[in-house]
Amino acid sequence: MPWQSLAADPSTAARYEAKVYRGGPTDCHWWLGAISDSGHGKIRAGSRPAGTSRVVSAHVLGWAIHHGTDALRGGAVVIRHICDETSCQNPEHWMAGDRLQNILDFQARRNLSGHALADVRGPAGRAVAVRDAILAAAPGREADAIAAALAAGHPSGDHQDALW
Ligand SMILES: [Zn+2]
Repeated sequence: MPWQSLAADPSTAARYEAKVYRGGPTDCHWWLGAISDSGHGKIRAGSRPAGTSRVVSAHVLGWAIHHGTDALRGGAVVIRHICDETSCQNPEHWMAGDRLQNILDFQARRNLSGHALADVRGPAGRAVAVRDAILAAAPGREADAIAAALAAGHPSGDHQDALW
């Protein structure tokens, strides 16, 4: 994947930025575009006339835009989400790692009560719910909409919190 040329393309970077919802600087920055079956943001990068057009994972493109392409050389690297929100585009919530680390993280955290990976909707359902909640929220009400969309993925956890 020619990440360097894709990340350097101004129209690709502008289209990427237009699909990211940013609340606070330390919050997850949610993807508002297409979401894959695995819950990752997808975007068409590059230029059709130039023959460089292709659909890529939004957070990997974001990594190339914000952190450069050195870590992406060789192809064995995966960009992991420290926050475990697959659609998150906050550059501070990513780290470069490998597929095995990703699998081990998933297995270690998927059963934690209330955790993103324990969402009953799965990662794609969760990412779509948050995206749709932001897009439907009245201006200024996005934070409440996000909180409600996240909480809806943990119906039993919420009940437990209310009891105790
Ligand atoms: Zn995040």
